[in-house]
Amino acid sequence: MNILILGSGGREHSIAWAVMQNPKCDKLIVAPGNAGIAGIAECASLDILDGAAVIGFCEAEAIDFVIIGPEAPLAAGVADRLRESGFLVFGPGAEAAKLEASKSFTKAICDAAGAPTAGYGHFTEAEAAKAYIRTQGAPIVVKADGLAAGKGVIVAETLDQALEAVDDMFGGEFGSAGAEVVVEEFMEGEEASFFVLCDGETALPVGTAQDHKRVGEGDTGPNTGGMGAYSPAPVMSEAVTQKALDEIVRPCLAEMARRSTPFQGVLFVGLMIKDGQPRLVEYNVRFGDPECQCLMMRLGAQVLDLLQAAAEGRLSEMSVNWAEDHALTVVMAANGYPGEYEKGSVIKGVADCPEDSFHMVFHAGTGRAEGQFVATGGRVLAATARGNSLQEARDRAYAMVDQIDWPQGFCRRDIGWRAL
Ligand code: ATP
Repeated sequence: MNILILGSGGREHSIAWAVMQNPKCDKLIVAPGNAGIAGIAECASLDILDGAAVIGFCEAEAIDFVIIGPEAPLAAGVADRLRESGFLVFGPGAEAAKLEASKSFTKAICDAAGAPTAGYGHFTEAEAAKAYIRTQGAPIVVKADGLAAGKGVIVAETLDQALEAVDDMFGGEFGSAGAEVVVEEFMEGEEASFFVLCDGETALPVGTAQDHKRVGEGDTGPNTGGMGAYSPAPVMSEAVTQKALDEIVRPCLAEMARRSTPFQGVLFVGLMIKDGQPRLVEYNVRFGDPECQCLMMRLGAQVLDLLQAAAEGRLSEMSVNWAEDHALTVVMAANGYPGEYEKGSVIKGVADCPEDSFHMVFHAGTGRAEGQFVATGGRVLAATARGNSLQEARDRAYAMVDQIDWPQGFCRRDIGWRAL
């Protein structure tokens, strides 16, 4: 099978790493990829938001299966274009991708499905949003409706903060993403992420995780794309997982199918759990980064069979082969991230790290210059390890971090602290 993965992050490196271990994989191309991915697969430069260009590439390379990593090509309808041209694709079409691309859409789906989530109001002008906020009081959450790279959500502690957030959003701070605003009840509890493969009908859980969004130790400082993660999430007990499936995921999938826009791909279910009751915070329509690195390490080669079965509508035939294991990933980022950071610094020592089914340094933002790895992004590496316990996985991950010689980079030393 000739496989194309779209994307260039640590998520895509880990998917490529798992997929290529499957003997069914004859040829693997990742577009655009990065310097780490180039060590295990062919990388191709391609505009992954351009459906026609992706189709042309797939025809030229005789691609049998396309796996779409990030949300942007999904929201742009690249999966639809490929399917219309007869290609097998893992990932939802644009209409189903609205589960991530529009918060008000997701709220409407939850309403129709009766799925537990925060109470809310949906607004297209500032004065109505502010009037609603005044009736609700603080704390309260103000969200730009569209995709804002994780930055369009303000958890306001005070009324003034909430009102200011409304002005910022309608004032254009988040571009067209903020043209509509969702105001939500503040939910208390512990957050966890739940990953479910879907083929339009069947839902198959493929793991739980928790991530660390803040840049600083003790979960302090500004938000980032994610500084580390671990899987499984202890708060996702069997009972909570079952409730999330029965009360949230399955009713929402049924509503999507009822609307003739069945969801096919991976549903990233962001949950808030309090007293054993999960409520939906958000859906994403792709694997999380860096949660994906943990899941891929735990799942290994079977990932290809599972993603293919989802794309072919055969998930009801599948089960996941689980080991009683744990995985943890530590993100190494360029100094200054998530603010301004420099590019081009040399990273040494990656080649000295072990590479096997328990250890991998996945690359997120790297390139090659004069035979060496150089940093090309904010989040640069994800040192990922598996173990019989979370502690063992963590020790192995930090042992890799300590092998890496990169003075211009940093990481958090406390990934997994909540669970340990
Ligand atoms: P990302 O994709 O980066 O997670 P996003 O922009 O899609 O972010 P959300 O996941 O909806 O936004 O919200 C970001 C974070 O804000 C959540 O992970 C959660 O910590 C907090 N949050 C969002 N909604 C609520 C809520 N109703 N109550 C409490 N906290 C919330």
